[in-house]
Order: sequence, then structure tokens, then C-alpha cells
Amino acid sequence: MAENKCGKCIACCKYTMIQIPKPKTKGDYSDILWYLYHENTNVMVERKSGKWQVISYNRCKNLDDKIGCKNIQ
Ligand code: SF4
Repeated sequence: MAENKCGKCIACCKYTMIQIPKPKTKGDYSDILWYLYHENTNVMVERKSGKWQVISYNRCKNLDDKIGCKNIQ
């Protein structure tokens, strides 16, 4: 039986994060503005690496509040 990795910390099951290229053009910044128009969405730049990321705060459909990941039970 697979270990339930959601048992203790389910933080990563409540968002998705996708790396995007560092914006250079007016169009790139327009795209970022469009991301930010969406609810529960942020754009983040990691301080150390300088990597740009879009974060969408949405629960995974497999996440159950009582048992954790239904996909790993
Ligand atoms: S599939 Fe399971 S472990 Fe993966 S994000 Fe969803 S709830 Fe979490």
C-alpha cells in the first residue's frame, strides 16, 4: 500500500505553481496582468533564484479533508 503523503502536510495539494519566463516586453507584462485578473492567482518572483512563477490557489480534486489524498489510499 502506498504511503499517504498528504497525511501531515497538505499545503501542496491546495495550489498549483508554474514557472514562467521573466517578462521582457510590454506583451509579457500584459500577460502577467491577465493572470492577476483571475481570482486566487498570484505571480511570484523568488528572491534568490529570480525565477518567475504563477500560483493558482485551488484544491486538488483528490484532496479529502478527513483522509488526505484519495488517490493514494
Ligand atoms: S493527487 Fe493527492 S497528493 Fe497529489 S495534489 Fe492531489 S491530493 Fe495532493
